[in-house]
Amino acid sequence: MPDMTPGVPSALSPLVRRVVASNPSHMTGPGTNTYLVGIDEVAVIDPGPDDARHVDAIVGAAMRERVRWVLLTHTHPDHSSATSRLVKATGAEVLAFSKRDKELEVDRAIGDGDTVDGTEFRLEVMHTPGHAVDHLCFLLDEERMLFTGDTILDGMYSVVSTKTGGDMAQYLATLERLRKLRVSRIAPGHGEVIEEPPARIDDYLAHRRLREKQIVGVLKRNGPTRISAVVAMLYTDTPEPLLEVAGRQVHAHLLKLRAEGKVAGRDAKSIWELV
Ligand SMILES: [Zn+2]
Repeated sequence: MPDMTPGVPSALSPLVRRVVASNPSHMTGPGTNTYLVGIDEVAVIDPGPDDARHVDAIVGAAMRERVRWVLLTHTHPDHSSATSRLVKATGAEVLAFSKRDKELEVDRAIGDGDTVDGTEFRLEVMHTPGHAVDHLCFLLDEERMLFTGDTILDGMYSVVSTKTGGDMAQYLATLERLRKLRVSRIAPGHGEVIEEPPARIDDYLAHRRLREKQIVGVLKRNGPTRISAVVAMLYTDTPEPLLEVAGRQVHAHLLKLRAEGKVAGRDAKSIWELV
């Protein structure tokens, strides 16, 4: 298995290398994955957290003048904060879903149907909202490797939180869309390469559908219920620091169900019930 030691570049395929940032946590697993695509001309996917040593490791793995593009799967800080430091070191062009971001200098907005073409590769751009409104996935044509950012992860389920731009209905639609692609491997934003994409996406879909069913079941059995009580009943194995996030996920499920006319409730703090 390729090395996941922070700062040590490892080759995942003829065209792809990975450098793991040293920001491990409950939310980031072993740390954020930064991917380098191409040899002659390099696209860096997600520079990671703002850490000078991590940026040095990326530049060291690529040779600075070869880094032509910085691609952002989304603008959450653990994926994007190192952007300006990496641009300073390389002069790369920054590509993301939106040019209007208060924290970042984005040179070009990209979305569905766009491609990034290096001398040896083509990356297809897909807009994949759900985890975040501005989320993009990138499909490497030559190897059918899919870079999923925080939409699909290894070792944990993705967070769909209303507080950080998450939308459960969009997230499920995105998973359905990715499921239809011909993909040989998934390179996630956190964790190891996923060797069986269809099985993993099916598992993700099943997990979300089960959660939705469980939430409806809780409301059915208990009547009007607060989100904190739903969390206490359903997330019994979840470590304490993640319970707040679990609450936001339940909220995201409830907003989807409300849009479908199945539940009623006002906001994250209110009481929710079936209609
Ligand atoms: Zn994220």
